[in-house]
Amino acid sequence: MSIRIGFGIDFHQLAEGRAFWLGGVQIPSTRGAVGHSDADVLIHAICDALLGALALGDIGQHFPNTDPAYKDIDSKILLAKSYDLIKSRGWRVVNIDSTVTLEAPKIMKYAPAMRSTLANLLGIGTDDISIKATTTEQMGFVGRGEGLVAYAVALVEKIVE
Ligand code: MG
Repeated sequence: MSIRIGFGIDFHQLAEGRAFWLGGVQIPSTRGAVGHSDADVLIHAICDALLGALALGDIGQHFPNTDPAYKDIDSKILLAKSYDLIKSRGWRVVNIDSTVTLEAPKIMKYAPAMRSTLANLLGIGTDDISIKATTTEQMGFVGRGEGLVAYAVALVEKIVE
C-alpha cells in the first residue's frame, strides 16, 4: 500500500464585522477572519495538507489571493478543487487531523457540523476527520484575539496503480 502524509498551517487576522467561516460552517460571532476569500483558516490548512501530501505546492500557488476569481470565494470550493488534484492522480484521503487555535468564540459545539461538511467534500466518513481546538492561554497574537491559526495533517492512500 502506498501512503503519504501532508501538513498544512494557516493564519488569518480577526476583525469586527466579518462573517466567521470555519470548517465550511458559519459560526455566530461579532468578529470574523479577514482574507481575500471567505478566510476559512481550517479549510485552508486542510487544502495545504492535501497538496503537501503529494508535493503539489501550496494553496497560494493554486488559488492566488491576487486573482479576482477567488475574491470572497467559498473555501469549500477550494477544498473540492484541492481534493480533485489528489483524486485525479489516483489517491484518496484516509484521514485528517486538525487543531484550531483561537481565543474566542468557542467553536467545539460546531465541530460535528464542520466534520460532516468536510467529510462530504472529501469522500470520507465523519470518523475520518478530527477537529480540535485550543487557546494559547492569552499569550501572543492569538491570545490577544488579533487572529487565529489552524494546523492540519492529512494521510492519503494510492488507489490506482
Ligand atoms: Mg488562508
